[in-house]
Amino acid sequence: MQQADPSDSKANWNQRESVLLARYAMHSCDSQGREHPEHEHPYRGPFQRDRDRILHSSAFRRLSGKMQVFTGDMGDYHRTRLTHTHEVASLARTIGRTLRLNEDLIEAMALLHDIGHPPFGHCGEDVLSDCLKHHGGFSHNQFAMDLVTKIEQRYTDYPGLNLTHEVLSGQQFRSDKRNSETQMLEIQVVDAADSIAYDSHDVDDALKLGLLEWRQLDGLELVERAKRSVPLDSIEESLRRPLLVHTLLDLQMGDFLRHSSELLQPVAGLTSQEVCQACIKLQMSPGIEQEKRQLERFLFENVYRHERLVEVRDKAAMRLRQLYKSLAGHPERLPERARNWARSWGDQRAVGAYLAGMTDRFCDEQYLLLVEMGRPCGVDWS
Ligand code: MG
Repeated sequence: MQQADPSDSKANWNQRESVLLARYAMHSCDSQGREHPEHEHPYRGPFQRDRDRILHSSAFRRLSGKMQVFTGDMGDYHRTRLTHTHEVASLARTIGRTLRLNEDLIEAMALLHDIGHPPFGHCGEDVLSDCLKHHGGFSHNQFAMDLVTKIEQRYTDYPGLNLTHEVLSGQQFRSDKRNSETQMLEIQVVDAADSIAYDSHDVDDALKLGLLEWRQLDGLELVERAKRSVPLDSIEESLRRPLLVHTLLDLQMGDFLRHSSELLQPVAGLTSQEVCQACIKLQMSPGIEQEKRQLERFLFENVYRHERLVEVRDKAAMRLRQLYKSLAGHPERLPERARNWARSWGDQRAVGAYLAGMTDRFCDEQYLLLVEMGRPCGVDWS
């Protein structure tokens, strides 16, 4: 079989992008490249390669064992961090294709966006942030950067996945939104898809798990809008929930696409960089945005603070904190790889990184073995 010619391949995906993508999209040929230069791949563009590197990383696979909002002992129906990530990627690609943005870049950034979450979701993040407050703090967005630039091992000459500047800068923007005035349209799309996904699927999961009752949704403007497009009250209960979620997604996606298309029309002749400099912000219409904020406040009060979740979170926080104290007090009990990190980052940050990489189940197991049973040494999760 004849080998594909890399130069032909590059010309092919450049040509393909020039036909399919808008001028304001991030074109692969304009990429600033990688920290460690590489030859072009014979049949994949740079952002396709990034997507595949993230997909094949061990940190990505561990998302299947990390909770999104609800824990594994609450059932098998609800989203995990992994299924949430795939839902975000799916919505983001739909937006990207419709607005003629770079779908490969969007998918890579969507698969990356939650990869740095520690066990037990935001409660785990709060614990690590508190434990490390005198040692640089902790944020899942920054830990995602550490994972793909320092911790994941794929190459003999350097650590990390050697992702493109664009994918890393998108994640860096998530890590420090306050200091970033310019943002690629592609990362804005991932942010919007993330928010649309979790607002909708948290309603679904909370209803299914019995944390919410249907009557509590009455009067919420976005739900009332959904009822005006689909007669939800007259549909049998087993179909009502998926139909509500589908309609909530559809309303938000449709509005975001309509409004963003209008915003992009006057700048259709600008490049990706020029659109950033013009501070173009993709968004929903003000009316739907307000209704979405109301739904988010409702979820915060009625779901995220539900007593069943608070109880689960409190117990998980206690276990994670105890595990941190145990290992920070005896860093010699860290597995070998984490002891190597400690030489560069210090004991506390190495313990934090070791804990942040754990799945919920692995964290519980290590708590049992290291704290309750006093086993002398932990094991690596990679
Ligand atoms: Mg997310």
